[in-house]
Amino acid sequence: MQTEFSDTSGNQAGRKEWGERGTAAATIAARLSFEHVSHSYGRIVAATDINLDLAPGEIVCLLGPSGCGKTTLLRVAAGVERQNSGRVLLDGLEVSGPGGFVPPEKRGIGLMFQDFALFPHLTILENVAFGLSELDRAEAHREARSALQRVGLLDYEKAYPHILSGGEQQRVALARAIAPRPSVLLMDEPFSGLDQRLRDSVRDETLTVLKETRASSLLVTHDPEEAMQMADRIAHMRNGRIIQSGSPREIYNNPVDAETARFFSDFNEFDGAVENGSVDVPLGRVAANGIAEGTKVEVLVRPSAIELCSQDGFEVMVRTSRFLGDHCLLTLAVAGYEKTVRMKLRDSEAPESGAVVRVCVNPAHIFVFPT
Ligand code: ATP
Repeated sequence: MQTEFSDTSGNQAGRKEWGERGTAAATIAARLSFEHVSHSYGRIVAATDINLDLAPGEIVCLLGPSGCGKTTLLRVAAGVERQNSGRVLLDGLEVSGPGGFVPPEKRGIGLMFQDFALFPHLTILENVAFGLSELDRAEAHREARSALQRVGLLDYEKAYPHILSGGEQQRVALARAIAPRPSVLLMDEPFSGLDQRLRDSVRDETLTVLKETRASSLLVTHDPEEAMQMADRIAHMRNGRIIQSGSPREIYNNPVDAETARFFSDFNEFDGAVENGSVDVPLGRVAANGIAEGTKVEVLVRPSAIELCSQDGFEVMVRTSRFLGDHCLLTLAVAGYEKTVRMKLRDSEAPESGAVVRVCVNPAHIFVFPT
């Protein structure tokens, strides 16, 4: 929404609309640990034997499809849900488990939700000062103003939330979350309410603010690109379990199984069987990486892993070539294979439909998994 207060902030206008970098108040980050945490809602199992440790200042993304238990873990960490078993610790002290329970407001944890959850009847300043009830009013307003300044919205302190755009409301929510200087920040899909154009710049600025505050941050998302942009470490979840945890690069380059690989990118998929240590696929033979002889396997090849090559490689015909802005998506006809194979190339390199070219596959982007 655009208003007399609004200047379409957060869209393409760039980062200068946020406050000066490096000015967010730093916190004393805490270590957040889940130890064997399991939780069910009646018969619905939401989390099973979760072990996860956030080092102080680390940004970890819980990534997975809808219903895999991400929000449940966030709620357990916040203390608004009590797990059936296991423990949650902050700096080694049990805040939830058989040994006791520390209520949410005593944990020093900040929260940020996808709907921003601003109070409509409070001004922007009062919204940001809301979590600062332990300070006297003047001090709370001073801290709130400092957080608003950092997100570039101090001019709006007397305005009410409804006049702000989605991007601006998200920034107020961020200011409110960091104002009490939490040692841990929990964020549930904080960017999903924003349109695509805005999301990238808001994520980038939010990441900068998080790093400045040095709070340990646990962020829930179902968007792999968002997780890769934001996270020091990704915990990839499925059916209430953490399937793989590692840096974005580790998970992208070494997924533990085909489903994890598919979650991060698009693939050409071929079936085969291991014979003499390798597998026959339409674009040649690929190494089976120690999988036992005779095992049936699926071979996943990223479209971007297929490259044009001059002499070696495989002869293919380009069936279609579609311009998609920063790259072209080609479909290839390969002799002896009835389906098409997809290939991604820079526009300047892309041959026309009907061209016959030679291609080879970058082995670093081939994954072979037993079926
Ligand atoms: P989403 O991305 O859709 O929010 P999620 O990965 O965050 O999903 P959770 O919200 O933690 O997953 O839900 C895990 C499972 O627990 C789901 O099957 C969900 O339907 C169920 N569930 C969550 N909250 C409740 C509740 N209060 N009562 C009953 N079942 C619940």
